[in-house]
Amino acid sequence: MEAPVLVLNANFEPLNVCNTRRAVGLIMAGKADMVMNGRGYIHTVKLTIPRPSVIRLDQMVHRPRLRVKLTRREVFRRDNYTCQYCGRHSADLTVDHVLPKHLGGGHVWTNVVAACPSCNHHKGGRRVEEAHMSLLHPPREPSASAHYLFGRHLETNTEWGQFITGW
Ligand SMILES: [Zn+2]
Repeated sequence: MEAPVLVLNANFEPLNVCNTRRAVGLIMAGKADMVMNGRGYIHTVKLTIPRPSVIRLDQMVHRPRLRVKLTRREVFRRDNYTCQYCGRHSADLTVDHVLPKHLGGGHVWTNVVAACPSCNHHKGGRRVEEAHMSLLHPPREPSASAHYLFGRHLETNTEWGQFITGW
C-alpha cells in the first residue's frame, strides 16, 4: 500500500506522487479515476480493487508554478554529482557558496554549487578569482519540469514516462 502512485491533474499535468493507500482512497471517494493499473489487484473481503500506478483527479487543481527546493541533495542532483570546479564525479561532495557568505553571498540557487572536499578546502573563504579557480557552469535555478521533479521515479516506474514527457 506504500507503493508510489503518480497523480495527474484533470488536464493530465503531473501533480505529485502519493502512496497507494491515498490513491485508492481518492478513487473510492469519487475524486479521481485510475488511468493505469499495472500493479495487480488489492483483495478485500467484499471487493477486488485494482492497484493503481497512475490516477487522474476529476477536478482541476490550481496551484502556483512549482519550484525546486534548495537542498544539498537537489544541488548535487542539479550538478550531476560533479564537482563544479575540477569536474570530478563523486559521491563525496559539499555545497560551496560561490561568493562566500561572509562576503555577502546568499544561499540561493545562483550562488551554490557542488564541490569536492579538496576544491572546497582549496577555495576556502575566497572568491573564485582569488583562488584562481573557475566554474564548469554558472549555477542556475533548475526548472521544475515534471521530468526533473518526478524523473527519479522513472527507473522503478517506467510506465510513468508517457505521462511525464513534455510537462
Ligand atoms: Zn573538485
